[in-house]
Amino acid sequence: MKIPMRQCSACRGHFEKRQLLRVVRTPEGNVVVDTKGKANGRGVYICKKEECLEKAIKSRALSRALEVPVPDDVIESIRQTIKEQADG
Ligand SMILES: [Zn+2]
Repeated sequence: MKIPMRQCSACRGHFEKRQLLRVVRTPEGNVVVDTKGKANGRGVYICKKEECLEKAIKSRALSRALEVPVPDDVIESIRQTIKEQADG
């Protein structure tokens, strides 16, 4: 059985989807954290790791992948989600 793999936009590593966090630009142009993995729109993946988030902020990997700026409150909710799921 083949496990679907996705690429982290920060470290460029390939991981199982459940190890990654999906950030989506919705058809309305909003950037949201897709905690359920079902949101429509252009998505980008990032590891559930603080270091990958920091790397993505520095390199603007998320903004470049989504082609829109990622608001600070979205960065903050990514940070929160990583914290909450760090032990899971
Ligand atoms: Zn990563």
